[in-house]
Amino acid sequence: MRISRTRITAAVAATVTVAAAVTTVLAGTASAAQGCRIDYQPNEWTGGFTANVRVSPGDTALSSWTVTWSYPGGQRITGGWNATVSQSGTTVTARNAAWNGSVPAGGSTEFGVQGTSTSGAGAPTGFALNGVPCNGAPPPTSTPPPTTPPPTTPPPTTPPPTTPPPTTPPPPTTPPPTTPPPTTPPPAGCAGAVLCDGFENQTGSTPAGDWSVVNPDCSGTGRAAVDTATAHSGSRSLRIDGAQGYCNHVFVRSTKDLSAVGTVRYGRIWLRHTTALPTQHVTVMAMTDAADGNKDLRMGGQNGALQWNRASDDATLPEQSPSGVALSVPLPTGRWTCLEFMVDGNQGQLRTWLDGTAVTGLTADGVPTHDIDGQWYNRTWRPRLTDLKLGWESYGEGADTLWYDDVALGASRIGC
Ligand code: CA
Repeated sequence: MRISRTRITAAVAATVTVAAAVTTVLAGTASAAQGCRIDYQPNEWTGGFTANVRVSPGDTALSSWTVTWSYPGGQRITGGWNATVSQSGTTVTARNAAWNGSVPAGGSTEFGVQGTSTSGAGAPTGFALNGVPCNGAPPPTSTPPPTTPPPTTPPPTTPPPTTPPPTTPPPPTTPPPTTPPPTTPPPAGCAGAVLCDGFENQTGSTPAGDWSVVNPDCSGTGRAAVDTATAHSGSRSLRIDGAQGYCNHVFVRSTKDLSAVGTVRYGRIWLRHTTALPTQHVTVMAMTDAADGNKDLRMGGQNGALQWNRASDDATLPEQSPSGVALSVPLPTGRWTCLEFMVDGNQGQLRTWLDGTAVTGLTADGVPTHDIDGQWYNRTWRPRLTDLKLGWESYGEGADTLWYDDVALGASRIGC
């Protein structure tokens, strides 16, 4: 039987049409299923890490987000920025901050985490966005695997700082970073200061009189002494030999009645040290805040730059994002440096100057700003400082030798 050429052509054409339709449907399905991506980019070093995390929801717009992942073990989150981050066992949960919950379809947002780690800690897995697996992972099966118990590694020598969720979200919009307003040069010397001490009246090797040595945690190898070999002025200074570890925290605390300083406190300290600020958190000065459960407001360093830290909730100024750290400055080694600060308990603001120059990253100006004081204003902050402690706390790594001299506290700026 002879088959006409016309019929064959029609049959082939019909097949092609069906195939084209299937192709179209598949393409449409692939586009509709554009999934979420979580890009985790760590910066690791011995004992710790930070990571930038990019959240890309794909074709689904978000009004809020929760990102979860798991560490294989050995990593412990100690803080974050642009998100509220917590860890339970090996599972990390990061929730959006007040200002970055909305992400358009096809858009993305970023946040960061920092933490401690043991050697050989592996890469995180199981990224999910609002409970949906990301990065092409299959959806969860009906029988989820049993939860992994927390790692059985020995406890760290220092308790990890806690980061409770903010009680008051910051305003939804924040302005771009601003430079602190210029200030007129302050007068020199200690004029009008409530406390003005160059340690020249110290007679022994152990600080006494207007100062007393305190060990807030337990007494270890940290040492405080009056030094007659190194001084900013005169022939004496306070020397702190700061060692690593919780038990070695040591301060020299003013015994003077500082109540006359009032709720707006200006400080000036001449400071010298030998070792660059470490990556992990350290403290070189602390002041008890009676309005914050008598927890310390701490000046120190992290990620190699100066920072303020609130002991009550471990908030940092600046935020420890790379951009935030870049807005602070290192503490120079091997020379005397003039550190000035202003803490305004009425307005809840903070200013810092190094050698007379205002430091943007160490400025809390009352308006939450990304990378700077966004975390600081997670809650209302109206400090009432009651003391002054000079010394050393190292919570992970870091040992240093420091000298303090010509220390002043007053109700107006004292100057260098
Ligand atoms: Ca002196």
